[in-house]
Amino acid sequence: LSVSSDTHNNSFLKMPTIKFTKLFINGNFIDSISGRTFETIDPRTEEVIARVSEGDREDIDVAVAAAREAFDRGPWPRMAASERAKIMMKWADLIEENIEEVAALDTMDAGKLYYSNKFGEIPAAANLLRYYAGAADKIHGEVLKVNGNFHAYTLMEPIGVVGHIIPWNAPSHSFFIKVSPSLAAGCTMVLKPAEQTPLSALFYAHLAKLAGIPDGVLNVVPGFGPTAGAAISSHMEIDAVSFTGSVEVGREVMQAAARSNLKPVSLELGGKSPLIIFDDADIDQAVELAIMGIMYNKGEVCVGSSRVYVQEGIYDGFEKKLVEKAKAWVVGDPFDPKSQQGPQASKDQFKKILSYIEHGKKEGAKLLTGGNRVGDKGCYIEPTVFSNVKEDMVIAQEEIFGPVLALMKFKTIEEAIKSANNTKYGLAAGIMTNNLDTSNTMSRSIRAGIIWINCYFVAGSEVPFGGYKMSGFGRDLGMEALHKYLQIKSVVTPIHNSPW
Ligand code: NAD
Repeated sequence: LSVSSDTHNNSFLKMPTIKFTKLFINGNFIDSISGRTFETIDPRTEEVIARVSEGDREDIDVAVAAAREAFDRGPWPRMAASERAKIMMKWADLIEENIEEVAALDTMDAGKLYYSNKFGEIPAAANLLRYYAGAADKIHGEVLKVNGNFHAYTLMEPIGVVGHIIPWNAPSHSFFIKVSPSLAAGCTMVLKPAEQTPLSALFYAHLAKLAGIPDGVLNVVPGFGPTAGAAISSHMEIDAVSFTGSVEVGREVMQAAARSNLKPVSLELGGKSPLIIFDDADIDQAVELAIMGIMYNKGEVCVGSSRVYVQEGIYDGFEKKLVEKAKAWVVGDPFDPKSQQGPQASKDQFKKILSYIEHGKKEGAKLLTGGNRVGDKGCYIEPTVFSNVKEDMVIAQEEIFGPVLALMKFKTIEEAIKSANNTKYGLAAGIMTNNLDTSNTMSRSIRAGIIWINCYFVAGSEVPFGGYKMSGFGRDLGMEALHKYLQIKSVVTPIHNSPW
């Protein structure tokens, strides 16, 4: 294992001052009603970065009232869609103008690689705004042919006030996955970032105001799940909730929605995604994808390839190269360009991963490499690979959400299909083969929302994304996501003297 020599030495970068730590409601940064604040922690050092206002139920009420007013009487849902698009485009430009600052905020808050934020996730987030800005003026209903002398058509209307609840593993991307299509649809909203990573969301709120998003349209309320989060899912004046997070909390969100005003819910939940490598695959490329698939963002990726199945003909060679690659993977300060893996986003997550690793050892899986903390400061964990993993082991079934790979061997395509589907989740899967029949059969047989063939993680604004089974329902991204934020209204009227 290589540890970057610059770990904890940030001399090559100027750290941003934290400018925004209050709730953003109705276009203003304000204290929470209780006056309470909470700490947000830098997982590189476990030191406090800043104290952030803690929103609770009564703050959500104020934010919802602002969003309600902006929806019921404000300009946003009423303005020409092309005007909405212009403002969204401006916001996207402002993000790029400030990219170094927001990239640094996500690195400090979530331990994410700075250069990956700057050149990957945040430009992609800005492009989400542009993609949906382009869609805003293409949202329309249809004219329908009905029996008799009637004219029927559908209107696509914004659903109203939307509640967004997002996790900490991709704070910028999750923010814009939710906000961009709902803005394009003409909705107003209240967003709660994860308590571990509130900083970039507040910075984006500031940029939204500069871009001209009217007051009340976007409200950002940091706070905890059982208080601020639950207030969103149970709110009577919120018309829809879009949630990304764990299965356990997804279930609570859905129950709260059902018990309150039956608001529609979409859930983007966890995964235990398989990467299946057939004998005819390019072994070096397969090793590359297997490592990237689970070590990228220190394994805190909902579609991470946490289960890797390798066909027996190439298994031994694959395992050897995989271990070499995992050992060479550079763990270190996420601001350092040489680092490939930063610290886990929080101490809780760090502890959870280490306890899963212990569980794997106790269950009898063979630890090929990794398994330990790196250093004695910060939440760094070694890239970890287990072999001899059995399908029913906890490390093969539960989402670890860390740099831990479970390696398994298979013989036939039937066995591969059965194993791939042997999970409560269904978010993603990867297949590596050059045989067209094999890839066609596999991609149709695996019950998951996205299938990557000879690639992994390739995604874009255009590609719908979401789960099968307990990975949730509803789709983010693509034109599909717009439908979560729209209502269809049918209008029927008689036509007198129709010639047809
Ligand atoms: P989490 O479910 O603990 O928290 C997610 C969000 O829900 C946070 O903002 C949290 O404050 C809030 N929350 C917690 N309790 C709540 C409650 N009772 N009511 C309302 N809101 C509440 O998840 P996490 O640990 O932050 O994130 C990791 C999980 O997210 C993993 O399971 C991961 O797979 C999943 N995830 C899924 C996707 C996807 O698109 N499918 C993307 C990223 C992460």
